[in-house]
Order: sequence, then C-alpha cells, then structure tokens
Amino acid sequence: MENHFNHDANFTRMSSLYAPTLKEDPGDADLASHRLLLRAGFIRKTAAGLYSYLPLGWRSLLKIEKIVREEMNASGAQEMLMPILGPAELWEESGRLSSYGSELMRISDRHDRDFVLGPTHEEIITDLVRNELRSYKALPINLYQISDKFRDELRPRFGLMRGREFIMKDAYSFDVDVEGMQASFEVMFNVYAAINRRAGLNALPVAADSGQIGGANSIEFMALAETGEADIIYCPSCGYAADIEAATVMIEVGPGPKTQNDGMEELATPGVKSIKDLAKFVDGEERDCRKAIALIQEVSESSEKPSSDTSDKTTPVTNEKPVVVILPGDHELNDIKAQNAFGSYHLMDDKELKNYGLIQGFIGPVGLPGGVELVADISLKDSFNWLIGANKPDTHYFGAQPGRDFEVSAWVDLAEAKPGDICPDCGKPLAEERGVEVGQIFQLGDKYSKALNACFLDKDGKEKPFQMGCYGIGITRTLAAIVEQHHDDAGICWPISVTPFEVHVLALDPKQDEVIETSSSIARELGEQGIEVLLDDRDERPGVKFNEADLMGVPVQVVVGKRGLKRGIVEIKQRETQEKQEISVEDSTKFILDLVEELKNR
Ligand code: ATP
Ligand code: MG
Repeated sequence: MENHFNHDANFTRMSSLYAPTLKEDPGDADLASHRLLLRAGFIRKTAAGLYSYLPLGWRSLLKIEKIVREEMNASGAQEMLMPILGPAELWEESGRLSSYGSELMRISDRHDRDFVLGPTHEEIITDLVRNELRSYKALPINLYQISDKFRDELRPRFGLMRGREFIMKDAYSFDVDVEGMQASFEVMFNVYAAINRRAGLNALPVAADSGQIGGANSIEFMALAETGEADIIYCPSCGYAADIEAATVMIEVGPGPKTQNDGMEELATPGVKSIKDLAKFVDGEERDCRKAIALIQEVSESSEKPSSDTSDKTTPVTNEKPVVVILPGDHELNDIKAQNAFGSYHLMDDKELKNYGLIQGFIGPVGLPGGVELVADISLKDSFNWLIGANKPDTHYFGAQPGRDFEVSAWVDLAEAKPGDICPDCGKPLAEERGVEVGQIFQLGDKYSKALNACFLDKDGKEKPFQMGCYGIGITRTLAAIVEQHHDDAGICWPISVTPFEVHVLALDPKQDEVIETSSSIARELGEQGIEVLLDDRDERPGVKFNEADLMGVPVQVVVGKRGLKRGIVEIKQRETQEKQEISVEDSTKFILDLVEELKNR
C-alpha cells in the first residue's frame, strides 16, 4: 500500500473509491439519467432538488467545466466569480424582485436585510461594471463564471435535470451598440455549438422565448431526447426550429359551416360542450370550430409602503380583468405566450365564470357580458364563418364574422404550435421533437443597463447604456443530458471526453498474485502515459465486476483473468459497442493508448 488512503499516484483503486452502487432501480427515478447516475454511484439526493456529486460524478462534471472553460477562454471571454448572495435592492432596481416570482429564493441576514440566492446574475454583474467600466475603449467585453445557482422550482425532478441548486456557467457581454451585441451573440452561438459537440451531445439550436431573463432574441440549445421536457417544433424541409413556447407558425384554420344567407345564425346544440362534440354535431372537424377560453388577467401595481418603513418592501395591489380568448378549435392556449400577452393570469374557475355571466361550453364573442375583453389568436384574423358559443345555454352561432357581428380588441399569437402546422419560413408542414434545454443565449439589449443606469462614455463623449447579452449553460443538466443520449440497458456509455475514467481495468481474481500484478502494472503504465485509469481490485465475483463496469460506463474495459494470463492475453472491451479483442499482455498498453486516442478523435 503506497499511502494511508490506499492511493497510487498513477491510478485509482476501486477498493478505496467512494462510489456506492445500487443493485435495484430507485423507485422515484423515471429518467435513465436519474436512475443510472444514482445506481452507478455518481450522485446522491440530499433533499428534493438538492444533490451531492460523488467522486465519479464530480470527475465528469469537472470535465464538462473544462470543455466549457477552454471554449469560452478561446473566444476571448474572461472567467471570474461573483457572490451567490445578492442584495435584494439590486433586484428592486431591475424590477425582478417581484416579477421573478416564487422561484426566487430569498433570505435575510441578522439585521433583517433581504438577500436573493442568485438564480442568474444580470443584476450583480451590471452593478459590478456600472461605475468602473466607463469607456468605449474597454468594450466589447465578455465576463463569465461557473457557480451554483438557486431556483425554487415548482417541481424539482428528474435528478440533475431540474434541481433547486445546480451548477451553471453564466456569461455576460457588454457592447457599445446593437451590432456589437449581435456579434457577441454570434460568437457565443459558435462556442455553444462547439461545447455540445465536444461533450458528445446531439443538440439543436432553436428559437426561444426569452422568459424571465428578457430581451428580444434568444436561442436555446436542445439536446434531443424523447424524455426531454421541452417540445420543439421543427421543419424537416428547411431546418426551421423553435421551442413550442416561441414557435410563431402558420395555422391552417378550417372553414366553418356556412349559413344560407351568409349571415350569422343560431344553432341549437343541447349538451354539446366540447370542441370534439361540436365538430361531430356539425359533421365537421375540430379545426372548423372556434374555441373560447375565459381567463382572469391579474393586473398588479406595486405601491411603496409608507416611508417610515426602510425595508424597501412593496405591497402588490391586484386587480382582476376578465378576458375571453378565441383559438382555432384544434389548438390549445400556450401558457408562455399567454403570460407574454397578459402577464400573470389564471383560467376562470366555475365560480368566476358564473360571476362574469359566462356559461362553460357555450362562451363566444357575440353578446359577451360587459367588461369582458375579447382577444383572438392571430391565425383567425382573416377567417369567416365562425362556429362558436353564443353565450346562451345549449346554443352556438355559425356563420359569425369578426368586424361584422363582433369586434376583437386584439389579435395575438396565443395558440400552441403542433405538428402539421405550417413552417413560417418555407410553408411546408412542421414536425415535433422533444429535447432537454442545456443552454440558452439572449440578446438583452439595454434592459438591465437602463434599469440599473449602467452607462459608458462613447467616442462622441455621450453617455450610453451598454448593449448586453447573456449566455447560460447548465453544467449539471448537461451531465444528465449526456447520459440520456449515451446509455443502454446495462448502464451508461460515456463519451471519452466526459467519462470519469478513460480505462477500467478489471482484475478478475485479485487474490491471484499474477492477476493483481499484471493488472496493476497495466494500470500504472497507462497512468504514467496520462491515461485516467480505474482498477477494480476488489474481492468481488467476476459477474459483479462486469455488471458494475457496464453500469459505470467507462469507455474502455481491460479484463485481466487467470485463464487469459495462462495464454499470455488480456481482453479489451469497448463499452459502447461491446466489441471485444484479445491482446497479448506485452502489446496491451500500446493497444489501449491507441484505442483511447482513436476514441478521442472520433
Ligand atoms: P427551464 O425552461 O428548463 O426551466 P430556463 O430557461 O429557466 O430552464 P435559463 O434561465 O435559460 O433556464 O438557465 C440557463 C441554463 O441553466 C438552462 O439552459 C439549463 O441548462 C440550466 N437550468 C435552468 N434551470 C435549471 C434547473 N432547475 N436545474 C438544472 N439546470 C437548470
Ligand atoms: Mg432557458
């Protein structure tokens, strides 16, 4: 034994590695990445959405971080580190203290001062540069950090995919003008593509909604996976791709049934409450109908507390505004689009429907009770012959026409895109994919620099707000996404770039002197050549060793057993392809070095 912890400078012994494995699938882990990372001893759950990264998991995470650092640094970005705790006042300044909602984790110190556990750092970085980055000569600049982020997710789940504490790389660029910001954005786009490629991820850039972070243009990088939480709409013909939350597509609306005199007529529809039933009732399709949804817009105005209170807290005053939204019958309301249009809102419950004089199943644009606003999806703008509820029990209208029979106050993109809708770029039908959002980049413009009054002096001597961009990658989520894309029934199949070890040497019967000597010397020689080697020197049955090696997923396995050694050979197995080769002991180190090199260049 070389040292107190049974450590050898050139390789790691499994007998002393802290990687507790689980024989059974953990009950609450539905996703392959969650299940396998737990089973193979990469991570452990401390509480909902809070994980410890064990030595194997941490080694892989550090490799992802290394790829991120190398690509970021090569692009000219500068690494730094900001505090995780941010003073709430900064968040007041940006307006996000209230708008971020309950995902924001807040704490107060012993003096009752409020702080925020950073979910993202636009406020802190903008505050950091606002007094000291003063000249156009210092621009453009891109600053980044890799640190823990906190979000009180409504449903923390799927292991590392949606944590409440997670590791993120966040970068912030500062430019003199919009063109500069766009150039910074493009640099980051290329950096993200390179990072994903090197990490072994098949990721698609898609148009995105900019959400809580804001700004006009945004792209998400989606690792394609059936189990992903994000819906992607894409065009197989021209390559257009967008997150369903941001997909502005063309929807083909069906023509409703016509009346004989081209006017609007009542249709008795006893008990016909759903779009499905309505379509059946008129012997048509759902797309021929119009769907009405009643919601309450929660209009909140923040008002300052009396000045005697120094805590800077605000008390929101909430007003309700009833709205009826009309959609094509075969489409749903997209929540994010609705939030963008209405801010905070909720669907009316039975009591609220009654209060506002609306009848579930028969709501429509004609004869709406006073005070209820009428908004319709943009796709319906030039459509006629609406088949829609009549705001009377058991009654619909058909042949109704906007502009003639009723007025729509706003036409807004609200419908959720779906496969079969039309590509906005090339006019062909769209398809659907699922994905995991591993990164997102934003053109923020002057959203934060204006709010926090962060200006520089331009060439012409004038004060101007910075044009900013921000760029996030979920390091821990990326690890999980890699496992989603690289596993089989037996376990993980790590891409060589992010594997915790590159070579796994299995000493089948370590009590045999020859076996432990040969396997140790192969491990040592490889280690001396810079290869990361894990040696299974444990006193376990061969079957256990094979299974756990496949579970952990190190790309190259070297099996050293008594029987093989009698013939002077070891067996080399590639984890992903299960391809096996017998190689003489003398040639084994060279063979493995070449194989690792080949896998790296693949
Ligand atoms: P989502 O829509 O999945 O909640 P988001 O759009 O809110 O994510 P961003 O604000 O864009 O996330 O954060 C940048 C990156 O941080 C994301 O692309 C993702 O990789 C990662 N990330 C965000 N939330 C979490 C989380 N709860 N757990 C792990 N990683 C996360
Ligand atoms: Mg995002």
